[in-house]
Amino acid sequence: MSPRQPASRTRVRRLPEKQSGDRAALDRLLDTALVAHVAVVDNGQPFVVPVAFARDGDRLIIHGSNASRLFRTLADGASTCLTATITDGVVVARSAFESSMHYRSAMVLGRCTELEGEAKAVALQHLTDRLLPGRASEARPASAKELIATKVLALPLDEWSLKVSDGAPDDAADDLDLPVWAGVVPIEHRFGEPVDAPDLRFDVAVPDYVRAWPDGRC
Ligand SMILES: Cc1cc2nc3c(=O)[nH]c(=O)nc-3n(C[C@H](O)[C@H](O)[C@H](O)COP(=O)(O)OP(=O)(O)OC[C@H]3O[C@@H](n4cnc5c(N)ncnc54)[C@H](O)[C@@H]3O)c2cc1C
Repeated sequence: MSPRQPASRTRVRRLPEKQSGDRAALDRLLDTALVAHVAVVDNGQPFVVPVAFARDGDRLIIHGSNASRLFRTLADGASTCLTATITDGVVVARSAFESSMHYRSAMVLGRCTELEGEAKAVALQHLTDRLLPGRASEARPASAKELIATKVLALPLDEWSLKVSDGAPDDAADDLDLPVWAGVVPIEHRFGEPVDAPDLRFDVAVPDYVRAWPDGRC
């Protein structure tokens, strides 16, 4: 797939060389990150709310309570901005000014569509499969009451930007003579050892599908 050119609203102005039009790289980020931050403006006050999300082809699925300001406002058609970020390292330059981070960061602009009926059920299933791979075969399905209490929204992947920072420290020439260490400290994202629920009533082992959850998610 050829990289696409950013539209004016999604053109990175600062350090534009870090912008990527690579849709496959965007998908990898969106399929790895577990949390997105979603913006909504209420009476002129912006709120940025972290939520779990899943990419489903050319759209992102989010879900939340019917009582949530974020979900009510977005379901009414408000414009939003969703970001997903993975930090891959801390860049330690000779100066604090040039120190930075390795990251992959996506921003998606647009309006959500509320999903209903079968489309809602399918999207929720997809969200579960993505966030808890393998769990759908064992987890209790959502009840009618739980479904009614939940809003499921889809945000199209039409207007997006991807920014990737992965270079070595970019120190000023004068600073290279400073006798201090410089480099990159990688950040790794991995799951730890699962912890049993304290109210577990049966002697059941951690399922293999849980142990198989891929590292790199965060
Ligand atoms: C983990 C992390 C730490 C950062 N720390 C700093 C910091 O301390 N100081 C700092 O100035 N910047 C930091 N940045 C970069 C910051 O996110 C912005 O990219 C930058 O501040 C603004 O760039 P701009 O003026 O080109 O963007 P704007 O003019 O604000 O945005 C124009 C368009 O560019 C795109 N865009 C801008 N930033 C991003 C992004 N990060 N990811 C995807 N699309 C983007 C969007 O589509 C946006 O609509 C950090 C980024 C990450 C991911």
